[in-house]
Amino acid sequence: MRTKLVAGNWKMNGNLASNQALLEAVIPALAPLKRANYAVCVPFPYLAQAQHTLRGSNVALGTQDVCQFDGGAYTGGVSAAMLVDFGCRYVIVGHSERRSAFGESDEVVAFKFAAAIKHRLTPILCVGETLAERESGLTEAVVARQLDAVVKRCSLAALGQCVIAYEPVWAIGTGRTATPQQAQAVHATIRARVAAADRRLADELVILYGGSVKAANAAQLFAMPDVDGGLIGGASLAADEFIAICRAAVGAEEIVRA
Ligand code: PEP
Repeated sequence: MRTKLVAGNWKMNGNLASNQALLEAVIPALAPLKRANYAVCVPFPYLAQAQHTLRGSNVALGTQDVCQFDGGAYTGGVSAAMLVDFGCRYVIVGHSERRSAFGESDEVVAFKFAAAIKHRLTPILCVGETLAERESGLTEAVVARQLDAVVKRCSLAALGQCVIAYEPVWAIGTGRTATPQQAQAVHATIRARVAAADRRLADELVILYGGSVKAANAAQLFAMPDVDGGLIGGASLAADEFIAICRAAVGAEEIVRA
């Protein structure tokens, strides 16, 4: 039985004051929601603030990138060990914005994934196709290529230590969400691909959907059998929206009890 996860990706947003207000609204609202896991992936400069504010809560700390190298002469890099130092549990790797805006190849993403695993961080590995790729019938091939690059570098077993996020590029920050059926179809394909090599690992693999998830569409997406929660961008910056999405992950029953 997989536990749902809702992770906020703040991207390059926030400041000390707005972060504090957001966290102080989110933390007490999520405290009674025991049946799912929650995280916020904050920009590097705010790790200390978020670490301090999240202490004792049921919201885990994550961030949005990690250097593929362990340490040394890599100006501007932030290593996995540094993230661990700040109490990080999750790190997003291979987000489409990093693949496109920063030119990260499948191989670089795989090295970053390996660095995270080595330091016992949980990578949230983002995979997903562009609109042109979808319209050319390439969705499955693109996602398989992105996954295979990680498996080749780190082994299949390493997938047991990660979370996958299926994020169709055409749905990220566009307001255009994949339908629950579109998301389910790709999630099922990812799980089947892993199951072909290791059924148990596939059954336990948490696969998030990301791409314009909002309070209004979260419940329908999370009701799909292979959708195990969400990676939430824009909507994670508004406390009410994020809280409502987290509530959708635990389902109506627990909300009534809370
Ligand atoms: C994301 O940044 O991972 C994301 C899914 O963004 P948004 O929810 O804004 O589409």
